[in-house]
Parts: sequence; C-alpha cells; structure tokens
Amino acid sequence: LAQLFRPLDLLGMVYRTIRQGLIDMEAMYALIDTPTEVADRAGAPTLAVTGGTVQFDQVHFGYDPQREILHGISFTVPAGRTLAIVGPSGAGKSTIARILFRFYDIQSGSVTIDGQDIAAVTQQSLRAAIGIVPQDMVLFNDTIGYNIAYGREGASQAEIEATARAAQIHDFILGMPQGYDTRVGERGLKLSGGEKQRVAIARTLLKDPPVLVLDEATSALDSRTETEIQTVLRDISRKRTTLVVAHRLSTVVDADEIIVLDQGRIVERGAHADLVRADGLYATMWARQATERDAPVAEGENGADR
Ligand code: ADP
Ligand code: MG
Repeated sequence: LAQLFRPLDLLGMVYRTIRQGLIDMEAMYALIDTPTEVADRAGAPTLAVTGGTVQFDQVHFGYDPQREILHGISFTVPAGRTLAIVGPSGAGKSTIARILFRFYDIQSGSVTIDGQDIAAVTQQSLRAAIGIVPQDMVLFNDTIGYNIAYGREGASQAEIEATARAAQIHDFILGMPQGYDTRVGERGLKLSGGEKQRVAIARTLLKDPPVLVLDEATSALDSRTETEIQTVLRDISRKRTTLVVAHRLSTVVDADEIIVLDQGRIVERGAHADLVRADGLYATMWARQATERDAPVAEGENGADR
C-alpha cells in the first residue's frame, strides 16, 4: 500500500518545493530525470568561490551502484577555462554535468570547486555558483519576463531587458502580443527550440554564475539560429569556467581541453588539433561531421557572408 502513496508524496514534495521557491530551474531539469535525495551534512559550510576551478578526481559513479556508469573520471578545468566533453550517446556526458550540480552523490573519488568538496558544502551555495543551459528547457506557465527573471530574484525590468538583449531575444519579445507580459509555456505562446534556448541563456546571464554548464541541444536548430546562439554562448562563457557537453564538434574547436568519453571512460583528451592528429575516435567523429556541416560557413570564419 505504501507504494501507492509514494508518487503522491513525491508530487506533493515537488509542488511544495516549487511553491517555496527553494529550487530553481536547474533543479527542475533534474526532477524531470530522477528525483534524488542528496542531503546537506550537518553544519555544512557554504561554497566560497574564488576563481571557479572545477576538478574531478577518479570519479566512480552509477545511478545503480551495481552498474557503474563512470569508471574513474579525472579532469581539471582551471578558473575561466573551457572544457568540452564529447562522445557517443550514452557515454556519460550528461551524467558528469548532473554530478557537478550534485543531483547525485558519487560512489568514490571527489569533485571539488576551488578545492572544496561539493558534497561537503550546502547544496544551495553549490547551485548558486553554477548555471546550466539545458538541452531542452521547460518554461513556466507564466510571462516571458517571469521566465527570464527566474534567474535571479528581485531583478529589475531594466536588468531583464539587458540580458534579453545580450541573449538576442529582446526584439523577438517586443514583437509578441504583450511584450514581456506575454504568457508562454504549455498554456501560453509556444516558443521554438532556439527561442527557448535564448530564454535559458538570458536567465543564466541574469544569475551570473562563475561556473557554467552547457548541455548542447541535439535537435537540429536551423544553421543560422545555431550560429547566432553559439556566438552568444561563446560570449557568456568567456570569463567563466565552462563545461560544455557538445554534440557538434564545430563548437569545441576553441575549447582549452576536450575529453572524449566512451562508455564512461576518457579515451582521448587534448586540444582539437592534437586530437585530429591522433587519428582516433575524435578524428573519426570530426571527419564524419565534416561531411554534414555546411562547409563554407563552418570552415571559414567569415560570418560576414551571411
Ligand atoms: P550521454 O549524455 O553521454 O548521452 P548519459 O550521461 O545521459 O549519456 O547516460 C550515461 C548512461 O547512464 C547511459 O547508459 C544511460 O542509460 C544511463 N543513465 C542516464 N540517466 C540515468 C538515470 N536517471 N538512471 C539510470 N541510468 C541512467
Ligand atoms: Mg546527454
């Protein structure tokens, strides 16, 4: 009988949590996947971010401890740098992002930000330090302005509009029936994938976190939208520590380090040019995608042609 009540309990929990505003959109993103119960340790201190160096050290993890998914993952992203994670579907890329946000506790190894174990600090302070632009964002049934402002409580209309401009969605919003007061979501105006991504970017800009996680959309945006969004993303990641889960290799060319993940193991790592030269899995993926790319746009940097 107890089984029957669990989903209801959970629903109640989710509802209350949302009501209390204790979780933000990134946590919603996790709940869609699996609700989890990581707990703060008694008297846990808050995370003190100095530069935002992210380090995974010999991380072993399985959603089910009997079935390990990550088999000893180690990498360091120095403050302000960009790490790209690439690899086949199911390799464990999104899992790494979820672990950094501490949706799950790992079985062994450690994850630190500026030397502090993320499992030892409060979840609230950890999540305040990290912004996620998810592959597919769910919008609240509320105004477009509210959906952007969710990145930070008490944001002014001027701040909301400034970030919307930076995310290149301001003009689009002004064109909507009631501007920033237009209702969006399931019961409002439906936005395209690219538009939702821009809202997610604006929200993240407003939150202004030192650490950024970008889980790139798999679904095809049209190539012009994609190019525009990439430009915005490159801008916002410039001064932050960034982990990008990349499906299109054209976005990782400039990353400081690329790790190639396959079945929960890092099989190659290095900068783009090194990996192409190494002629391994990355080079194969690169060659395959090269045939799919709009060659002139992706190859030359002459966006002026468009
Ligand atoms: P990627 O993002 O590289 O495509 P994921 O990190 O999403 O891969 O998944 C890695 C592995 O973990 C896959 O085998 C997937 O089936 C499994 N997995 C992902 N999410 C869950 C979950 N919530 N519960 C159990 N297994 C999961
Ligand atoms: Mg994924």
